[in-house]
Amino acid sequence: MRICVISDVHSNLPALESVLNSLAPFDALWHLGDVVGYGPQPNEVVARLADAGAVGVRGNHDAAAVGELSTDAFNDDARSAVDWTAERLEASSREWLAAQPERLEIGGFTLAHGSPRDPTWEYVFSAGVARGNLDAFTTPHCLVGHTHVPLAFRVVERRMEMLSPNGQPLSLDGLRSLLNPGSVGQPRDGDPRAAAMLIDSAAMSVSWHRVEYDIRRVQRLMDAAGLPRRLSRRLQLGL
Ligand code: ZN
Repeated sequence: MRICVISDVHSNLPALESVLNSLAPFDALWHLGDVVGYGPQPNEVVARLADAGAVGVRGNHDAAAVGELSTDAFNDDARSAVDWTAERLEASSREWLAAQPERLEIGGFTLAHGSPRDPTWEYVFSAGVARGNLDAFTTPHCLVGHTHVPLAFRVVERRMEMLSPNGQPLSLDGLRSLLNPGSVGQPRDGDPRAAAMLIDSAAMSVSWHRVEYDIRRVQRLMDAAGLPRRLSRRLQLGL
């Protein structure tokens, strides 16, 4: 089975469309939360994911946008984008977002936005943090988002290895791992192209992919919507 894994779409419909078109065909679509927030098309993105039959988990921006998480811990730009989103969410979008669980186990994978032990807030950015999360999931593998940086952690001979995707498929056969596909809608690793991951569950290997999309179009929509300029500028930098 070919599984497309996406995270942190952040209301960026052109980036999502590019990823889905370029990685097709796939048998399943899994998302790791932060479907909304930051970007200009929250309802369109939710509708597209619902239409594609995506299954996944909620992120901190999703929870805040449906009023189930306080925005006290958000920075000013993130908070104003969450408020903007909350005002515009249609009932069907709110319902879909509110129905996303914090964690999900599916096909040997645990899905969580931040980390399995703290799905809302923790960033898995180091081998130490990855190791600290091994006891928090019982499946062989865990998929996380939240950092907006594609990364892999796998346990090899009891050592936690941290790897940046290098264009080659990564074998996970017989190992435990934590994997981050990177962000579709707001990459932060210096590459502005949308990021996503494919799992080949027969070979038990994963590959990371980058896809160009019309960044200017999204920036124009954000500026027209009055979203913070800093949020639209950062898209072209991938930071
Ligand atoms: Zn995010």
